[in-house]
Amino acid sequence: MNKLIAQLRSICGVPHVYTHEDAGADLSAWELDWRKRSRGRSLAVVRPGSTAEVAAVVKACAATPGVSIVPQGGNTGLVVGSVPDDSGTQVVLSMTRMNAVRAIDPANLTITVEAGCVLQNLQAAAEQAGFLFPLSLGAEGSCTIGGNLGTNAGGTQVLRYGNTRELCLGLEVVTAQGEVLNGLTGLRKDNTGYDLRNLMIGSEGTLGIITAATMKLYPLPAAQLTAWAAVPSMQAAVDLLGLAHQTLGPGLTGFEVMNQFALSLVDKHYPQLRVPLWQDTPWCVLLENSDSENEQHARTQFEALLERALEQGCVSDAVVAENLSQAHGLWHIRESITLAQAEEGLNIKHDISIPVSRIPAFVAETDALLQREIPGVRLVDFGHLGDGNLHYNVQAPEGGDNKAFLRDWEDKVNTLVFDQVHKFEGSISAEHGVGELKAHKLPTYKDPTALAMMRAIKQALDPHQLLNPRKVLA
Ligand SMILES: Cc1cc2nc3c(=O)[nH]c(=O)nc-3n(C[C@H](O)[C@H](O)[C@H](O)COP(=O)(O)OP(=O)(O)OC[C@H]3O[C@@H](n4cnc5c(N)ncnc54)[C@H](O)[C@@H]3O)c2cc1C
Repeated sequence: MNKLIAQLRSICGVPHVYTHEDAGADLSAWELDWRKRSRGRSLAVVRPGSTAEVAAVVKACAATPGVSIVPQGGNTGLVVGSVPDDSGTQVVLSMTRMNAVRAIDPANLTITVEAGCVLQNLQAAAEQAGFLFPLSLGAEGSCTIGGNLGTNAGGTQVLRYGNTRELCLGLEVVTAQGEVLNGLTGLRKDNTGYDLRNLMIGSEGTLGIITAATMKLYPLPAAQLTAWAAVPSMQAAVDLLGLAHQTLGPGLTGFEVMNQFALSLVDKHYPQLRVPLWQDTPWCVLLENSDSENEQHARTQFEALLERALEQGCVSDAVVAENLSQAHGLWHIRESITLAQAEEGLNIKHDISIPVSRIPAFVAETDALLQREIPGVRLVDFGHLGDGNLHYNVQAPEGGDNKAFLRDWEDKVNTLVFDQVHKFEGSISAEHGVGELKAHKLPTYKDPTALAMMRAIKQALDPHQLLNPRKVLA
């Protein structure tokens, strides 16, 4: 192994390779997952500065028996996909030094960036050039576009712009053999065979290492308005979504739902955020209208929507943000739910999708089943309702011991929730991916033919299990 470390140092430079043997070494930023559920021990953390260095690192690791590679971006993933196991034989390949914007092509509406570019910096570069890069999620200040592509991240704008897959036109990838696949095309049409780009997107670092990507840009909206509505039931939230689609058309760029308990956690842990309208309603909805004309047009449309919704009883009260700073404040509340939950303590997380029309029945039935099994259980239920995606999280009863709750209930609760998801023809991972956390669940919930094809693809592209072994496919 010492030979490999020396090779890695000669490829990337001594300052960019860390090991536990270094004086004062603390590698927890790379070895501990965001939720602090899994702490591994790596052989080394390597931070290459170019595609050629990534390829050379892969070749050196491939030539060393027993070593494998864990690609890592911002390490904000929620399914234990980006951290090493505790074997001490895995090299963490951190992409954060490769963070340049390589090119912007205004006529083609594309931006080409390196994989380690932090999402917020990509959004800012697009905006500086006069465009919108619409991918947006709570972790955008630390996650990277490579990680977003690796997980096919969703976020808050999917109902209008699609998830990361839909935003990507081309990829540069280092294969498990250390070859460079140059697919950095800005083409919107290219039917020359199998879609390797889409194979890589969402593969969670198990098929190749994404080193750069060409992403789509959009015109900046002329105006963006945000509203917050209290709704009396999940069915009312779904009815409101239908009305919003009809009234706002493609202007509807965000539709988030949050239950009362989720908002009570934000109120408890971040009282300065001043959550509106949450005390007297079981659910709140956050809506965003992006308008290509002007603010007055957006406001008139929004008011028409909310009036109809109040008349029809699917909204009981609503506020429309007066300015950008109020709008950011409302989004900040929504994005603080994940952090407020972390403050409250460990819970059992589910990132699921169900056809939108079936969500009210799913929630009613599954809530009742859980309450029957665990009296007093608390549900942190929120998510991207516009995409049929719920973060359906289960917290110990008030005053309970969170660690003991997880130990005693996690498996049973997962089975109960995933069986319900299966019954309602949904997916057990809508946007966070599979990682190590859910890999053992795929044989139960994934179509067996699909799973066999996934195994065949992994075997063909990475026969020696060099890239992120035991993630996605257990
Ligand atoms: C507060 C918070 C809010 C979040 N909100 C959302 C949300 O709304 N929607 C959503 O989808 N996710 C969300 N997430 C999850 C997470 O941010 C996303 O999964 C994100 O895409 C991960 O990016 P990353 O750079 O941190 O990747 P990492 O966590 O480092 O890695 C994630 C996976 O991608 C692989 N990977 C990383 N870089 C590469 C690369 N260059 N090439 C190949 N594979 C690679 C890793 O091996 C791993 O399997 C949230 C997380 C947090 C902490």
